[in-house]
Amino acid sequence: MSIKENLQHIQSTLPEHVTLVAVSKTKPVSDILEAYQAGQRIFGENKIQEMVEKHEQLPKDIKWHMIGHVQRNKVKYMAAFVDLIHGVDNEKLLLEINKQAKKHNRIIGCLLQIKIADEDTKFGMTEQEAIQILQSDTFAKLQNINLLGVMGMATFTENESQIKTEFSQLKTIFNTLGALPETNSQFKVISMGMSGDYALAIHCGSTMVRIGSTIFGARNY
Ligand SMILES: *Cc1c(COP(=O)(O)O)cnc(C)c1O
Repeated sequence: MSIKENLQHIQSTLPEHVTLVAVSKTKPVSDILEAYQAGQRIFGENKIQEMVEKHEQLPKDIKWHMIGHVQRNKVKYMAAFVDLIHGVDNEKLLLEINKQAKKHNRIIGCLLQIKIADEDTKFGMTEQEAIQILQSDTFAKLQNINLLGVMGMATFTENESQIKTEFSQLKTIFNTLGALPETNSQFKVISMGMSGDYALAIHCGSTMVRIGSTIFGARNY
């Protein structure tokens, strides 16, 4: 099936409250344009350099989401245009995003990445660390970031019940953080679910799915 057909199929299965991030990492600009022409406007990349290059070549009404691990010293390259950063996993990074956003007179959306997977390789913070950040004096002063929710990645496993447990855990943490006075009414996003597990993620409360290979085909690294 074509990219357009894949997109239409996925969109037809998504509930209205779920936002689709088309994950275009490693894929050429021509593929992104095809998805753009089919109406898709939100694209996710996991490398800043690659996202910057694609941003330069593509229509400016695209919303670019950084879904990968972010190194603090590279925030400056995307601060002028990035719409939402999913992988915020420490306070220093949040401070740097705020600083760079301020230089551009922008407010950048951020999600706190929570570690739900039972794997050492996945980044993210614990619920306690997230609460600490939210309740810190520093956080209260950040005027150029908007904390919109949480992001998580389940363990890479065939075991559906484990994935379900992990997604449910993220939903619970989201509820806890959302109930704190430090989060505002825009704290609404639960970014979880990829090609292999997005239906389950939506069942567990996801409001934003990040889908790559089901739209663009398998990636060649
Ligand atoms: C690559 C990637 C995805 C998309 O994965 P698919 O299995 O191709 O849908 C989603 N989230 C993150 C963080 C990724 O790096």
